[in-house]
Amino acid sequence: MKFRAYRDLRDPALLAHRGFSGLPQDLRDDMFVVSQVFPFQVNSHVVENLINWDDQADAVRRFTFPSKEMLTAAEFEDVRSALLRDDYDALHQSVTRIRLSLNPHPGGQLTRNVPRSATEQEIPGLQHKYQRTVLFFPRAGQTCHAYCSFCFRWPQFVGMPELRIESPEVGPLIGYLREHTEVRDVLFTGGDPLVMRSNVLRQQVDAILAARLEHIQTIRFGTKALSYWPYRFTTDDDADGLLDVFRAVIATGRHVAVMAHFNHPSELRSPETREAIRRVRATGAEIRTQTPMLRGVNDSAAVLADLWSEQVRQGCIPYYLFAARDTGAQRFFGVPLEESHQIYSEALRLSGGLVGTVRGPVMSADPGKVLVLGPTQVRGEEVLALQFLQARNPLWTGQIFYASRSKSALWIDELTPAFGAQDFFFSNQF
Ligand SMILES: *Cc1c(COP(=O)(O)O)cnc(C)c1O
Ligand code: SF4
Repeated sequence: MKFRAYRDLRDPALLAHRGFSGLPQDLRDDMFVVSQVFPFQVNSHVVENLINWDDQADAVRRFTFPSKEMLTAAEFEDVRSALLRDDYDALHQSVTRIRLSLNPHPGGQLTRNVPRSATEQEIPGLQHKYQRTVLFFPRAGQTCHAYCSFCFRWPQFVGMPELRIESPEVGPLIGYLREHTEVRDVLFTGGDPLVMRSNVLRQQVDAILAARLEHIQTIRFGTKALSYWPYRFTTDDDADGLLDVFRAVIATGRHVAVMAHFNHPSELRSPETREAIRRVRATGAEIRTQTPMLRGVNDSAAVLADLWSEQVRQGCIPYYLFAARDTGAQRFFGVPLEESHQIYSEALRLSGGLVGTVRGPVMSADPGKVLVLGPTQVRGEEVLALQFLQARNPLWTGQIFYASRSKSALWIDELTPAFGAQDFFFSNQF
């Protein structure tokens, strides 16, 4: 399969696709309006092999293409009328205003997580929030196979350079790791670091290995490529070069984890993806999977059970079920935390066995990774129990705390502390 990216809904090659051109014109017009705010990108594999165009509610289509309901009616009209008037200044202003209102950098990413060198200089392109894991954002990996509108990475794609996080080189990372012997994991992230050419990735990984940082035990790569461009691991001209990167790390006695993103079981069923998973696992690397719970995509116990069981069948390890973040199209995709917990629990009951490694629903929030343990009663009060899986302050890890019950809360900042407390225990500590 030849890679072809579609970034414009008026792209003749996309329009020539039978499934896409079969969509009603007004639906395509609406998508065009929304795509001014949420850029989208999709490729020939997704359009031709992953989407069932006869299914109005196709899950992959829902999370790949923009939808009218991602904007409020007023926002939609602003953008639409600017387009109809060919008023590009007004369009730019509306789009910028809407984007900035969608919390483009949740979780203190631009400020709070940026590490500093011994001389207090900020090191761009790194994030160090949790003691044991440093995130590395290589510049060449700051795009994705898709631009998911529920993902906090969308500012990386929309040409707002002040919102980008990236590193032009690997040297500062190595220097930082030398000083920080508490770190165990380096996580290549983006964007999608596997959009990088294998030889570029190889140079960076080799440099890390050559630095003989004995405290680094794992290198992880966050990616959507197993689903969206499985040829990256199979028939692309540098596919074997990529697998050699994994082998090179493993040969030094370290672990490689591919942190793969799958939202829906149909992404795992393509023969190309099966083969890609098989080839990655044959290197000795493990594949751990994550997904956010997305309304209309996987907000069902049966779908989640199928997603995770299929992963276990293919030897992947279900890892995180996230809550859709407080950013981007959360209004469209978000599922309330309590409902999400109920669906998660039911999915576990349906699957059992090795699916039990998946943790969720988890909020990757400013104070840390917060697991929704679920509703319970404490001293006669109905409460929602939560737990830090990871925290900005490592002393909070494992700590359980309680919020008042809420049927509607989508995120931690919509929860209030239980028992009439003013604040959560961590609120005034960071
Ligand atoms: C989720 C996350 C990690 C990795 O967390 P694990 O629980 O180890 O997978 C690291 N850094 C940041 C900022 C994160 O959000
Ligand atoms: S990082 Fe993953 S979820 Fe986010 S835009 Fe890229 S492919 Fe989508």
